[in-house]
Amino acid sequence: MIFLAFVEVTVRDRNGIADLKPGTFPGGTITSIRCQTVSPHRVLKPSSRWTSLRKNQTMSHALTVRWTIEPTTAPRPWLACSRCRGQRPFVCSGKTRLNANGRRLDAWLIYRCADCGDSWNRPVFERKNVRDVAPDTLDALQNNDRAWIHGVAFDVEDLRRSTTRIEEFPDCRVSHHVLAGRLEGSMRLEILFTAPTVVSVRTDRLLAAELGVSRSRLARLAETDRVILMPETRRSLQRPIKDGARIVIDLSAEADWAEIVERAQGGSPPA
Ligand SMILES: [Zn+2]
Repeated sequence: MIFLAFVEVTVRDRNGIADLKPGTFPGGTITSIRCQTVSPHRVLKPSSRWTSLRKNQTMSHALTVRWTIEPTTAPRPWLACSRCRGQRPFVCSGKTRLNANGRRLDAWLIYRCADCGDSWNRPVFERKNVRDVAPDTLDALQNNDRAWIHGVAFDVEDLRRSTTRIEEFPDCRVSHHVLAGRLEGSMRLEILFTAPTVVSVRTDRLLAAELGVSRSRLARLAETDRVILMPETRRSLQRPIKDGARIVIDLSAEADWAEIVERAQGGSPPA
């Protein structure tokens, strides 16, 4: 019996551009190479469509942009509030608490019940030897460092260790950065998504809002392979945006392609 394993290799330079052809790195230096095994089905079927779209893209004008997506509202854990006598959403207070017991440290991020203000301490770490705590972390905990607290408050995966019921918010801020290509005459768009924090906005909702096109139109474009998202999964347009994902949109058959391209790089089309 023969077993086949397919490995997907993603090569990134410092701008996050991934391409295996030499000489196509705008940034020059490769900074990371990621390998992962994928199912043969995923490698064979979508990649041929992807390759043909990328081939078309290099034949005509294309614009490559990076969208950096940051959620603006932190996820809220729902917990039993003893004062309200029921499940309530808790909101991060922006304050930490650090307790020392000899060489052992406990650290928490303090949340407040949205209704009554009662507190809940979210464990950051417990009974940790002071030697094992990074100096930056210790400094942030002692000074209620805003950036550090922001990072923990938006870390929904870590929050899942404390509770199973979490309210997530799709609102986010998008910053646009043109990486390569011409702003004028580009009928094909390549968008690279950077999401340093987990975001819960659906891919098609974000695209619709940013590009000014309806979700049904995006779905129609996807049906004819004019919108392709990588990595491609089942119903990928309906799933939340993933860090490192990229999308190619062929707008050559769209009358308003120039407006869409304008919006993709953060501008608003002329009225
Ligand atoms: Zn309460």
